[in-house]
Amino acid sequence: MHDRRPFVGGNWKMNTNAESASSLARGVVEACESTHSAVELAVFPPSPYLLTVSSIFRSRSTSTKVGAQDVYHQPNGAYTGEISVEMVTDCGCTHVLAGHSERRHIIGESDEVINAKVRAILAGGLTCVLCVGETLEEREAGQTDVVNERQIRTGLAEVGQREMEHIIIAYEPVWAIGTGKTASPEEAQTTHRAIRGLLADLYTPEVADRVRIIYGGSVKPSNAASLFGQDDIDGGLIGGASLKVEDFGLIAKAAAAE
Ligand code: PEP
Repeated sequence: MHDRRPFVGGNWKMNTNAESASSLARGVVEACESTHSAVELAVFPPSPYLLTVSSIFRSRSTSTKVGAQDVYHQPNGAYTGEISVEMVTDCGCTHVLAGHSERRHIIGESDEVINAKVRAILAGGLTCVLCVGETLEEREAGQTDVVNERQIRTGLAEVGQREMEHIIIAYEPVWAIGTGKTASPEEAQTTHRAIRGLLADLYTPEVADRVRIIYGGSVKPSNAASLFGQDDIDGGLIGGASLKVEDFGLIAKAAAAE
C-alpha cells in the first residue's frame, strides 16, 4: 500500500449556469464534508463561475479546492478570449487542468502548447493536472503506452524534479470519456503502472512514487471503488458524474475508503 493522498476532481466542462453552479458548489460542500481528512478534492467550474464557487467554498470554510479548466501560457497581452494564470489565481484557483482530451482533440492543442501551459501553471505556483490518454484507434493499434509516453515526455519537458510535487497526472483514455465505457480496473492499473515507470525513468523512483496518477473516463459510484482499489490509481477526474452532487459525494467516499 502506498501513502499517496487520493485526489478527486470534478470537471464541470461547459455545463451549469450561475444558479446551478452555485447550488452544485453548495451541494459538494455538504456531500463531501466527511471525506476531507482522507481525500484532496477539487472542482473545475467554467471560468465565469470560478469566483462565485471560490466565495461559496471560502464562506463555508471547506478544504475543497477550486481549479480552472484551462489557461493561456502568456502572462498578459493581446490574446483575445484567453485567461492567464494570474487571473485564475485571483479567482481563488489552486489547480488547473492541462491537456484535457477535449482541448487536444476538439480545440487542437499540441503537446508543445500543453507543455507551455504546464510550465506557466507551475511558474504561477499552482498545481497542474496534466491529462493524457490514447484514442480508440491508438489503443487498437497497440499504441497506448507510446501515446502516453509522448504526451508525458513533451508535456513535462523542462519541468524539474522539485516541481513534480505540483503535478498530478490524469490518465484518461479518450474512448472512455463521456461514453459510458470504462477501462477495466486491471487495464487501467496496467497503464498507470507503465506511467509510473516512465516517471521513474524521467525523474527518480522516489519522485514517481510520490506523484498521484488519477484515472478519468466514465467513473461512476458503481465502478469507483474497484478502480481506486488498484495500487497505482490515486483517485479520479470525474466529468459527467461530478454534475450530480450525490454521485460525486459517493465517488469521493470511495476514494476516502482506500
Ligand atoms: C473528464 O471530463 O475528464 C471525464 C473523465 O469525463 P467523464 O467522467 O464524463 O467520462
